[in-house]
Amino acid sequence: MSKYALISVSDKSNIIEFATQLLNLNYKIIATGNTYKTLKDNSIDCIEIKDFTNFPEIFDGRVKTLHPKIFGGILMRPVLDSDKTQAEQNKISPIEIVCVNLYPFPKVVNRDDISLEEKIENIDIGGPSLIRAAAKNYKYVSVLTSPNQYENFLEELKSENITLETRKRLAYEAFDYTSYYDTLIANYFEKEFQFEKKSFRLNLKSNFPLRYGENPHQKAYLFGEFENYFEILHGKELSYNNIVDLTAAVELISDFEETACAIIKHTNPCGTAISDNVFEAYEKALSSDPVSAFGGIVVFNKEVDVQTANKLNEIFLEIVIAPSFQNEALEILMKKKNRRIIKIKEFPKKEELTIKSVISGVLVQEKDNSKLSNAELKLVTNRKYTEKEFEDLKLAWTVCKHTKSNAIVLAKDKKIIGVGAGQMSRVDSAKIATEKARQFNHDLNGAVAASDAFFPFADGVIQIAENGITAIIQPGGSVRDEEVIQAANNKNLSMIFTGIRNFKH
Ligand code: 5GP
Repeated sequence: MSKYALISVSDKSNIIEFATQLLNLNYKIIATGNTYKTLKDNSIDCIEIKDFTNFPEIFDGRVKTLHPKIFGGILMRPVLDSDKTQAEQNKISPIEIVCVNLYPFPKVVNRDDISLEEKIENIDIGGPSLIRAAAKNYKYVSVLTSPNQYENFLEELKSENITLETRKRLAYEAFDYTSYYDTLIANYFEKEFQFEKKSFRLNLKSNFPLRYGENPHQKAYLFGEFENYFEILHGKELSYNNIVDLTAAVELISDFEETACAIIKHTNPCGTAISDNVFEAYEKALSSDPVSAFGGIVVFNKEVDVQTANKLNEIFLEIVIAPSFQNEALEILMKKKNRRIIKIKEFPKKEELTIKSVISGVLVQEKDNSKLSNAELKLVTNRKYTEKEFEDLKLAWTVCKHTKSNAIVLAKDKKIIGVGAGQMSRVDSAKIATEKARQFNHDLNGAVAASDAFFPFADGVIQIAENGITAIIQPGGSVRDEEVIQAANNKNLSMIFTGIRNFKH
């Protein structure tokens, strides 16, 4: 009895070699229109689907393989007498190998230059059905869904026959592939037709295992399109914690238009500064808290030059991240063997969602894309801030947005001079921020403060004012706002209410 293999592929890479080997192993090949043409053009003997089913491909290819002779051949159980009898009665031959990859919907879905109609035509119908049928019948059928699988498969086919273990794995990979494909379609329809989110479908296809998670005893994986955004130019592989910190660093730096540098430790900034040039931005950021900066992650939003590279080499830094590096600067930085150097290929997209796991599920929210320039700023005190104070308030506010709550951030002369992050009380955050500033001899007189949420009591504001700080930016909205404003006026502070809270848990 003839052994049949069905080939229907949009991505035709490696298909000639694959089909040739199948022929050598005495398989008869059935192929759909263009696949048939490709094989024939390469002198590979095969049967066109329409000749096999005695039914033409119709509706511009919308119906090609959807025929009982095909699906019967894939789904029949050759060990069952009843299936064998019915197959004979209906002239159905078993198909042992199904090699299908799908219309390139994933490639067209995000393209602005392609219409909805065209995208719809790129939704494969018969392909997923073939794949799912073959995967369901894995006990008797092998299903190949990627050119990467051909080589190993052929090797196994030549040496013995395909083992059940292999067929199971291929079936798993097949369902993984079709579910990914359908997820993309569902997500597209949801967005295109503006439906409310009913279920959360992750469509992160590529993944790679990490050495371990937050701690060495935790297994971990990275899912997503990391390489679309970052290129590792040098250094050891990134760890789980590196990736978390790197994300925090890049999110923060992408909020600046001016030349800026930030240093991150455990997702919190321990230094950030703005300047006319990267060297000074780094020097200033480093001086914020040079002790915490040790082993930190440094991020720039502009090209790193030679002078800055030399300065960066003076202390131990885990990662240096920037959109570009001067060639010589890169050479200098690469002298440190283990330090990672990361190029930002693309800054993160504003519309991406953030995900947090909770017991039994995930919380999904839009990113905090709030901007001070869009806020309605309200001066609530008698004294108006100076222009210089306002520049520092903007910087403090931006950094505060990217600092774990409760957060108080102090700034002066376009650099951060104290950060109180992740405390359970706002007064404690304020205390830590001012203590940090003192520890590194920053002059607090004339400095400014940002708070990620309102002050529930006047004590935090008083604490800040008593250290010489002269202006505060905060959302406002506490039931005790009056008390807080009163305290600010008593201390001759200038205070702005933004109306925007920036919790970061
Ligand atoms: P070909 O390039 O050989 O003409 O077509 C190959 C593509 O057709 C494959 O991507 C396969 O998934 C898809 N395909 C196979 N059968 C059908 C069908 O009945 N309907 C549709 N829409 N696509 C099919």
